Amino acid sequence: MEKEQYVCLVCGFNMVGFHPDRCPFCGAARKHFLTAAECSARFRVVSTPVNGKVTRLNSRPALGIEHAAYRIETGRGACWIDCPSCFDASLARADAIFFTHHHFLGASNLYRGHFKAAVHIHQRDSAHAICRPFTFDSTFEERFVHNGIEAFPIDGHTPGFTLYIFEDVLFICDYVFVGQGAMKYNPFGPADRTVAGGSRIGEILEGRALAKVCGYDYVADYADWKRLFDAGPTFGGY
Ligand SMILES: [Zn+2]
Ligand SMILES: [Zn+2]
Repeated sequence: MEKEQYVCLVCGFNMVGFHPDRCPFCGAARKHFLTAAECSARFRVVSTPVNGKVTRLNSRPALGIEHAAYRIETGRGACWIDCPSCFDASLARADAIFFTHHHFLGASNLYRGHFKAAVHIHQRDSAHAICRPFTFDSTFEERFVHNGIEAFPIDGHTPGFTLYIFEDVLFICDYVFVGQGAMKYNPFGPADRTVAGGSRIGEILEGRALAKVCGYDYVADYADWKRLFDAGPTFGGY
């Protein structure tokens, strides 16, 4: 790890190349920061299978606003959707990291160097100030398919929010929150655009036979998830 790098224990954000007084993501004070090396010593990343080709990745113990990343064995190389906050050098290599949005960049700069992986994010999310210390190998604006992984830019929760579908698995990150038999839109974004993006998600999912949904803190059966989605997620009242 050549560059100075700190990890915020409150949210998991990695501060690359600088040591601010407050976390640029959540505002926590410096006393809550570890160096990336200390973080790697204290946390590891555990892999939990979702199906035969998809694996969930989580920091253990939970790190900050703990979020799941996912590994996909595409048949033409492994790819990640999003990235853990903790750098764990023991993880199997991935060729590429695709971001759903700029909220969970994790230790992607360290994995990028370690794996020699290419990092991809939507152009509009890459422009956010929080992304400046991170390297992206490519930015995209339109739908694309990479080794069977379909990418659908949605906008909404963030301007470049992108969902992914691989075979029968949907990767939706934190666009909606699921709990207690109800679904809510993520409130940390513009309400009108988030709800409008929800309509686009509905169109993309129309007629698709999916089996699983991989979210930022859950894996759900698609049928259960879709029932809640079709009932209409609410926005507000959190
Ligand atoms: Zn933070
Ligand atoms: Zn988010």
